[in-house]
Amino acid sequence: MERLSYKTDDERRAHCRSREIEPDDHCCLDMAWFISQPNEWPAQGPNSPILWVASWDEYRINIPRDGWASTPIRFCPWCGACLPESKADLWHQILHDRGYADPGNDEIPEEFNSDEWWRKWLESGGAH
Ligand SMILES: [Zn+2]
Repeated sequence: MERLSYKTDDERRAHCRSREIEPDDHCCLDMAWFISQPNEWPAQGPNSPILWVASWDEYRINIPRDGWASTPIRFCPWCGACLPESKADLWHQILHDRGYADPGNDEIPEEFNSDEWWRKWLESGGAH
């Protein structure tokens, strides 16, 4: 198989962690690598090929022309794993239930700006 990177796996793991991406939290090292904004090729543009929205646990593929656009993906392009369902609706629902009428623009608890809230939510059995 054609190699995806000239970095060693250890180098890629270190890079992921430097971007606060824990490789073991994702389906494979390739996914963790590509969502951690690797910069390997001089001709590479500024956009990551794959985005991970931590607060929604949502994986998206970039489809920019000029500017920013992306669309959710359901399977890992590298290992084929079925990706977790986006938690965007749950994020909105929980924040709405807590009285935030416009969570995208309101000042929301810090844990909702990262994967912290849904990791706690999963640990507590998924109730809210
Ligand atoms: Zn994968």
